[in-house]
Amino acid sequence: MMSRIPLIAGNWKMHKSRDELRKFVSDFNNCPAIQERRDHATDIWIAVPYTLIETASTLCADMPVTVGAQNVHFAKQGAFTGELSLSMIKEVGAGFSLIGHSERRQFFAETDEVVTKKVATCQASGFVTIACLGETLAERESGETITVCDRQLAAILSVVTRPEFLVLAYEPVWAIGTGKTATAEEAQDVHAHIRNRLIERFGEDVGSSVRILYGGSVKPANIEMLLAQKDVDGALVGGASLAAEDFSALVVAGYQEGP
Ligand code: PEP
Repeated sequence: MMSRIPLIAGNWKMHKSRDELRKFVSDFNNCPAIQERRDHATDIWIAVPYTLIETASTLCADMPVTVGAQNVHFAKQGAFTGELSLSMIKEVGAGFSLIGHSERRQFFAETDEVVTKKVATCQASGFVTIACLGETLAERESGETITVCDRQLAAILSVVTRPEFLVLAYEPVWAIGTGKTATAEEAQDVHAHIRNRLIERFGEDVGSSVRILYGGSVKPANIEMLLAQKDVDGALVGGASLAAEDFSALVVAGYQEGP
């Protein structure tokens, strides 16, 4: 079976000043587990606020950490007040972007159509994205989990021609920032479904190589059981990525799953 390098990705949302960033990087770099296992094949990515991308990528230049953005506009340039283009985030050092996070969908009215355009822009430039999908509590309770995930996934995959630049994140909305985590079985069920769709679309080898992260209240106490699932290739982590000690514990759990 195709082995996928585990990926632990933090999402800092609208948190941290530059001083707080510096403290995080120094604390994270000094965590004994990070020092000891620097060469292990686990990817460590952090999506920081736009204002921190440049400083974070400079501070992390000698660390095995990729800094990214939490959003990107689909247009090259234009009258889009408050937005940033792909070339703008790349210019300050972003190595990837989240796209279609549920908070973008919920609070900023991002539709599947907008998400698709953003993925298309990144694909055209060979820019790595973590494209997010997941159902709300009401949708889960009415038995629509797979229908909703299929719809969101189809929108994303409709423009993916270079799957090597795609990571997917299954994030049930009811589990984000709520302290409620999907059980390992609930996560694996949806991940297996997504995996089948990827294989249908890209064939066995390529479909098996795309990483699918789980997100939703992942913390040191629950990450191991999630990563033990066959199709859970890492985690997208909000709250627990803000403290260096917690984030390093999550990364170390990813090490144990490594090839
Ligand atoms: C997220 O923001 O993608 C997320 C999963 O948040 P949390 O870990 O805080 O639930």
